[in-house]
Amino acid sequence: MSVRSLKCRECGREYDMQFRYICDECFGPLDVSYDIPTLSPDVFANREQTYWRYSELLPIQDKSNIVSIGAGMTPLIRAERLGEKLGLRNLYIKNDSVNPTFSFKDRPAGVAISKARELGLKAVGCASTGNLASATAAHAAKANLPCYIFAPSDIEMAKIVQALSYGGNFMAVKGTYDDANTIAAQIGDRRRIGVVNINMRSYYVEGSKTLAFEVAEQLDWQMPDHLIIPVGSGAMLNAICKGFEELEAASLIDDASRMRPHAAQPHGCAPVVDAFHGTGIINPVYKPDTIAKSLAIGDPGDGRYVLKRLKQYGGSAGECTNDEILDGLILLAKTEGIFTEPAGGVAVAVLHKMVKDGRISPDETTICYITGNGLKATDTVMSVLPKPQVRHPDVTEIAAAIK
Ligand SMILES: *Cc1c(COP(=O)(O)O)cnc(C)c1O
Ligand SMILES: [Zn+2]
Repeated sequence: MSVRSLKCRECGREYDMQFRYICDECFGPLDVSYDIPTLSPDVFANREQTYWRYSELLPIQDKSNIVSIGAGMTPLIRAERLGEKLGLRNLYIKNDSVNPTFSFKDRPAGVAISKARELGLKAVGCASTGNLASATAAHAAKANLPCYIFAPSDIEMAKIVQALSYGGNFMAVKGTYDDANTIAAQIGDRRRIGVVNINMRSYYVEGSKTLAFEVAEQLDWQMPDHLIIPVGSGAMLNAICKGFEELEAASLIDDASRMRPHAAQPHGCAPVVDAFHGTGIINPVYKPDTIAKSLAIGDPGDGRYVLKRLKQYGGSAGECTNDEILDGLILLAKTEGIFTEPAGGVAVAVLHKMVKDGRISPDETTICYITGNGLKATDTVMSVLPKPQVRHPDVTEIAAAIK
């Protein structure tokens, strides 16, 4: 552990590690900064198969505060069949849909809640588009902390049931994610609740960056060329870039500047993509309308920084329609045996377009981040699948139906 400070992303002012997330001087967000040691790949050889294996680059000072439910070290799959369909010879899927609560949110939630414990907070919570609710509630359960969840009332039923099962107090807010987020921010400050994606955001981001660490390690510390990243608030895309930069600082990879990150958003809520192709200024979407509910964040907190990252690295941004999302989701399932929720369909669909537009060439190493599980959104997916016909348990009848 080599944490130095909390550092303002805007003006660079540094603060001690504490319960604080905004700069006093300029109101900029604070990021954890490290005095990064040189690390050799061998140090990871016998470590646990979770993202806590990267403890030197995570912000928990005393390991006894770590709250782990075994998340991370998810498979990086060589996607030969999907690659063939899309025209790519070096495509990989980072399958984060198989985390303990079935989305990548176990990364940010786990680090934020561990830090909440280290800071002595007595309750945690989140504002969620669905997946963060379960990730936060599950880690809170493991930490034996009360958990308060603020989410729009129209998210998928499976996500509500799951979060409630872990014992989370679920506040279904009649409104958008941004409405839920505003409420969570005020209650968090008033009641001193560690709201993982708001007042614990500096630490939350640190969890998401392990998506860079694992991919690099799984590629034997070679840099990929392209990264397709679904964008909601934009925290993950930013964090992945920060992660690769830290690996370069640790001498584990040689050149982070080689990657091209690409932001993927659904057409009904694509403020970052629109800004990228338009004026460069984010115009909030007041009424998100998309089946990719995990990405329905109209006013993305880190949107501005995503635009900066895309510019810095020569990345790009793309969007896709609901039909394209479902096509992408089904294509991934049928070629690679991976069942994702609509957010994953967004990543596949936008990747497809980028290959067609010649933005990614066939031999370049491309990582497609699949961040959530299809079992959380079966109602949406069902709409495009044939209903199985119910038949009598009669061999002749059923044999006749098999062509
Ligand atoms: C939250 C979420 C995202 C977006 O992550 P941000 O950090 O908010 O950009 C992507 N995919 C899934 C499945 C999510 O739950
Ligand atoms: Zn500042």
